[in-house]
Amino acid sequence: MFQKILIANRGEIACRVAATARRLGIQTVAVYSDADANAKHVLACDEAVHIGASAPQDSYLRWECILQAAQDTGAQAVHPGYGFLSENEDFAKACAAAGLVFIGPSPSAIQAMGLKAESKQLMEKAGVPLVPGYHGADQDPALLQREADRIGYPVLIKASAGGGGKGMRAVEKAADFAEALASCKREATHSFGSDAVLIEKYVQRPRHIEIQVFGDTHGHCVYLFERDCSVQRRHQKVLEEAPAPGMTEALRAQMGAAAVAAAQAVNYVGAGTVEFIVEQASYDQPEAMKFFFMEMNTRLQVEHPVTEAITGLDLVEWQLRVASGEPLPLRQDQLRIQGHAIEARICAENPDNNFLPATGTLQVYRKPACTSFAVAAGAVRVDDGVREGDTISPYYDSMVAKLIVHGDTRAQALARLDAALAQTHIVGLATNVQFLRQVVRSPSFANAQLDTALIPREAAVLFHQEPVGAVRALAAVVAHTLHAERGLAGTDPFSQRDGWQAYGVRSRAFTCALGEQTHHAQLSYLHDGGLHLRVSPASASPATNAPSDADVSGLLQFSAQGEAGQAAEAGLWVSFHGQRTHSVLHWQGDVAHVFAPEGATSITWSDPLAHAGEVEVKGGRLTAPMPGKVVSFAVKVGDVVKAGQTLAVMEAMKMEHTIAAPQDGTVQELLYAAGDQVAEGAELLKLD
Ligand code: ADP
Ligand code: ADP
Ligand code: MG
Repeated sequence: MFQKILIANRGEIACRVAATARRLGIQTVAVYSDADANAKHVLACDEAVHIGASAPQDSYLRWECILQAAQDTGAQAVHPGYGFLSENEDFAKACAAAGLVFIGPSPSAIQAMGLKAESKQLMEKAGVPLVPGYHGADQDPALLQREADRIGYPVLIKASAGGGGKGMRAVEKAADFAEALASCKREATHSFGSDAVLIEKYVQRPRHIEIQVFGDTHGHCVYLFERDCSVQRRHQKVLEEAPAPGMTEALRAQMGAAAVAAAQAVNYVGAGTVEFIVEQASYDQPEAMKFFFMEMNTRLQVEHPVTEAITGLDLVEWQLRVASGEPLPLRQDQLRIQGHAIEARICAENPDNNFLPATGTLQVYRKPACTSFAVAAGAVRVDDGVREGDTISPYYDSMVAKLIVHGDTRAQALARLDAALAQTHIVGLATNVQFLRQVVRSPSFANAQLDTALIPREAAVLFHQEPVGAVRALAAVVAHTLHAERGLAGTDPFSQRDGWQAYGVRSRAFTCALGEQTHHAQLSYLHDGGLHLRVSPASASPATNAPSDADVSGLLQFSAQGEAGQAAEAGLWVSFHGQRTHSVLHWQGDVAHVFAPEGATSITWSDPLAHAGEVEVKGGRLTAPMPGKVVSFAVKVGDVVKAGQTLAVMEAMKMEHTIAAPQDGTVQELLYAAGDQVAEGAELLKLD
């Protein structure tokens, strides 16, 4: 076994590999870019080497630098993780030339599986079933059109060198083919440097089911069962589970044998995944499912933890053992499936805005209680590469964490996933956590009616949901505010902010905004020490605060203690209007983020009392709303500007953002130049 390895990756997968290495007593070397100088994966390793600037092509893809780092630190092997250099046969060759073990398959196996069209020709010879299609070398557009007509519509055009859900076009009818082909070729040239395409029949009601395989240098190859990754957005995986719902023993054995045949056709060594597209006549006829080879990924897959959860194995340990020359730890007949596991990918993105990726700082990042790293039954596991306070930058992908749960049955795993998602609190950037909860609870997913169109099919229940009602969220914020005030006041009777006054009933008004709507609340301090709350209905404009028939009112009670048996965790139990719910609150300026078991919501709050006397002078500070690049300044020092006038343009995640003047003034100083990278909150210019 190796004494020291270098991990040529970042984020959660670098942390994941480091954890197993540590357990096996193997030293680890991290590499990092400028943006990752302080990253979690750097601290997870024993040593770390800086390899360049933040953009991947200046650091994580510079393999000469990475090999130099391995040699300088005396590492014997390189683990590439996924993405970056993991499927680059030149890198695998360069490792060998430098006397380092590449923890993965041979360069020739990577190359053979690297191109979708070539790998399909190879699979055809090995007797692996293929989707009816065309994957020839002749790329004459007229020929491609004839092939598409022959296959029959709908068809899918795929970039031969494509990956990551990019470079695919579905074509419904012959008349649309030429235009889709041209657009696919443009994207392919741009993203993959080659415009070669292949054409496939677009499988109806398709499920994505993949088989985990493992080969060693002694000629053994086994399959570690399947994962169902049908729940996708934009052809990218969102939820992954194992075993696949409805899978029969016979189909599993057939798919496993086909995957092993695929791997053996290229003398595969290490962890790999054979992806199949599965056609189903209906959701409840597993015996009628037909599977076809799509591609083989010659690396560890993002969703490998679900396989670990159902087999009780550590796949990174297997990778290290196999790479150091040991035989596979188990034979096929020793492998067993236990229970059911699901992984959810938590991403910084806005599902309600076409999954637009988001950047920002993880101001609050609370995870569910985890059952250690071990992949034992009943576990909740979080794999991540970030900590509270870290930034999700525009340089890398938007995945924040992977949440993996295991249960005896699918229903139990589902319930655990929903509960674990409810305990995942992220403030500071948009995430898909609430969206994932909606998917998990959607009828299609709950009833395992899976296919790759599940998300569009369930759109009505998945998007634009407000899981916590306004009245309940408001009551929670009022209760949390009062609770915090009591904590501050201590026991001194003259410091109590309990609204005591000698005459009449003291009351307090709150105004808040939930989405587009404004709500009013009136809190009265009763003489018996009780609290009475009246919540007025939503109004688009904050006009009056007069009582109306539509008001919801009643006594407000809250307690930091649960009933006997309930765990005393952070948060409050709030009773109002016949309902008692637990909630946790995180403040971000004037915005209260309410996390309740049914979901999370954000309210912009204004409590006149809280801010009385605190006149906030913001001055002329103009700060970057997100990390990104300054594209240009529209002003120079000495310019007199009007409120609303454009001062600068920033770019982040391929989008431009305009920074406008909040007030009239004179530009005093520009603190950056066009082209500079800036962190979130960095002061861009001074306005007098
Ligand atoms: P997988 O097929 O392993 O589940 P995805 O389909 O989500 O992974 O990823 C698509 C592609 O994007 C992969 O081929 C991988 O190369 C790349 N990728 C995914 N995550 C990362 C990452 N964190 N860093 C770099 N590349 C990544
Ligand atoms: P990538 O390299 O981007 O992972 P794949 O070829 O693996 O590309 O396909 C990604 C996804 O596209 C699949 O999971 C599936 O949802 C969809 N897909 C691919 N081929 C077909 C097909 N022939 N019919 C229907 N859907 C398909
Ligand atoms: Mg794929």
